Parts: sequence; C-alpha cells; structure tokens
Amino acid sequence: MTTVKAFASPSATDDLVATTIERREVGANDVLIDIKFAGICHSDIHTVKGDWGPQQYPLVPGHEIAGIVTEVGSDVTNHAVGDRVGVGCMVNSCRECVNCLAGEEQYCLKGNIGTYGAVDRDGTITQGGYSTHVVVDKDFVVRIPEGIDLDVAAPLLCAGITTFSPLNHWGAGEGKKVAVVGLGGLGHMAVKIAAAMGAEVTVLSQSLKKQEDGLRLGAQHYYATSEPETFERLAGSFNLIINTVSASIDISAYLQLLALDGALVNVGAPAEPLPVNAFALIGGRRSFAGSMIGGIRETQEMLDFCAAHKIGAEVEVISADKINEAYERVLASDVRYRFVIDTATL
Ligand code: NAP
Ligand code: ZN
Ligand code: ZN
Repeated sequence: MTTVKAFASPSATDDLVATTIERREVGANDVLIDIKFAGICHSDIHTVKGDWGPQQYPLVPGHEIAGIVTEVGSDVTNHAVGDRVGVGCMVNSCRECVNCLAGEEQYCLKGNIGTYGAVDRDGTITQGGYSTHVVVDKDFVVRIPEGIDLDVAAPLLCAGITTFSPLNHWGAGEGKKVAVVGLGGLGHMAVKIAAAMGAEVTVLSQSLKKQEDGLRLGAQHYYATSEPETFERLAGSFNLIINTVSASIDISAYLQLLALDGALVNVGAPAEPLPVNAFALIGGRRSFAGSMIGGIRETQEMLDFCAAHKIGAEVEVISADKINEAYERVLASDVRYRFVIDTATL
C-alpha cells in the first residue's frame, strides 16, 4: 500500500477536505498513474451529496483523470512508463457478460466497478481522481493522443465520452439537426463533437448569457428555453436532442421539438423522475432514450476523434482549495465549461 494525497468528502453535507488515502500495490495487470489533472463532473456533486443514494464516507470523487504512467505490472503490454493516459468512470467490470463481451462494459450485467464509491474486486471501496496517484487495471486505462493537453483532455474521460457515445449511436452527422439542452460540462462537449461530426447544432439554454460561447463552440443556432416562443418556433425540428440537464425538466415539451422518428436522449441524471406525456411520443413516432458514458473501446475512439479534430474541453484549472467554491458555481450553472483540478496543489 502507498499513502497518497487526496481531497475527500467527509459526509453528504460537509465541504471536501484535504486528506490521504491508500492505493494498492501495483499488481501484474495494473498501471500506476501519476495524476496531473482531474475534472469536476456534476456527477461528483450528485454522488457526494447523496442525490443518488447513501454513500460510504470519506469519499474521494473524480472520474475524469489524466496523467502519466509511472509504473506497470509484469503482465502489462498495452501501456508503458511515460505514456499519457486517462481513466474515466469505471475501473473494472465482469468481462464475461454479453455486454462486456460486446465492448459495452458500462452496461455490465453485474454492474461495472465505478472509479469511486464502488466495491472493488478486492473488497475495498474505490477512491477517485481528486488525488495524486491511482492504480488501475490496464484494460480500463486509455491512451491520450499527442496533441491534446492533459488539462483539456481530462474532461473528455466523462463529459466527452458521455456525449460522443449517443451522438455516434444515433447517427449525428451531415444532414442531421441536433439540439443540445444545457450548456455545461457535458453540453459544451456535445456541441463541439456534434459540430465536428457535421451535424447542424442548436443550443437550448436557460438564458442567452452563453450565446456567444455556444456559437464559437460550433453551434449554428442558440435559443433560450425561458422564452415560451422558443418551443413554438422549434416544434418538430430536430432529429436528435441530447439532454444534459442535471435537474428534472419538462421532457414532454422538449419531445415536441423532435421531427418524425426523432429521439431525445437523456444523459442528465437528476435524482427526481422525468415524467413523459404519452402523446408527446406517439404524435411523431418519437423515442425517449437514455445513455450512460461509453465502453473502453469507444472511449479510445472518442479520444482519437477529438485529437483528429483538435477538440479539447474548455477548462478553468483550479487549485485544490477552490474545489468547494467550484461545486457551488457548478450548482449555479456558473461554469465555463469544466473545472479541472491541478493535482499538484493537493
Ligand atoms: P453541468 O456542468 O452542471 O451542466 C448542466 C447544465 O444544465 C447547466 O450548465 C445548465 O445549462 C443546465 N441546467 C442546470 N440546472 C438546470 C435547471 N434547473 N433547468 C434547466 N437547465 C438547467 O453538469 P454536467 O457535468 O454537464 O452534468 C450534467 C448531468 O449529466 C448531471 O446530472 C450529471 O450527473 C449527468 N451525467 C450523466 C452521465 C451519463 O453517463 N449519462 C455522465 C456524466 C454526467 P444552461 O445554463 O445552459 O441552461
Ligand atoms: Zn462524470
Ligand atoms: Zn459484464
């Protein structure tokens, strides 16, 4: 065991504090990563606050990890010391079920092992990326291509793959009209990636405050959802809507914005239910779907796609003593567009 620095949440209500945690010895199939940057995802906040159910504390969040390999186990051939690598939302899965075999480990039928707050194979509770080092199985470590700096790469490991996967699955591209609801961490990646795929992108944000940014990131259109005429004007417009909102919204109103056979894919994960009016679906053979992160193979594909299109996240790099303030700002939708912790400050 090695003792390393970390920032942890002591309870559902306390601020995060500096601490130390233990990392396991590097096993034959493990990679030791010197973490350089860790993104702050809204899921970290949902988790530590207990929105998704009770947690075991202290809990070290962080599943947008970018760093450098400093040691590899004896059976590791796919990563080497000095490599630039990333770790996202999961660090293991059963590897045997139909979904794991299909490369969709995030949907492992036995449950994937989350990067933090999950019971690891050795019975310990996993601890995440707000930390200086992590030991991860080689098969759950991806390569960060040259050409993407590590700070702007970190958010790709969750926000990037969570939006790339449904855009890819539902065929965003030339001739497709894609709307992105919520311009936060996930939303701004959805805009960049959908635009790079060739789709015509529209941002649906609560206000027009971020309009200039939305257009700079690659959207062609930008509307405020606080204005009722937005819903009249855009009725029946989109082939695909990606909802990234962290709170419950009126899904039926957004379904009305879909063209025939369109799909609204929910990636936002509010604690509250999202009620749907059946008529909003049946009136246009519409689909209401969900999507969770992406598999390891697709995560690598996403990183390679982002490198080829020179896409990174828009980040505000912060020191560890600003984590609690950053949480408040994310909750107030005051993030442009991802806070990333410089782990040298832990
Ligand atoms: P974020 O940076 O806070 O962005 C969410 C955006 O939603 C905000 O910037 C805001 O955009 C909009 N919003 C927030 N509250 C709203 C409200 N009450 N009504 C309408 N719009 C509101 O969060 P994130 O990190 O992108 O994560 C978004 C959600 O996705 C979270 O629930 C997170 O847990 C979930 N998530 C899911 C997956 C998955 O695998 N499915 C992966 C990662 C995260 P505007 O100011 O532009 O309106
Ligand atoms: Zn996340
Ligand atoms: Zn499995």
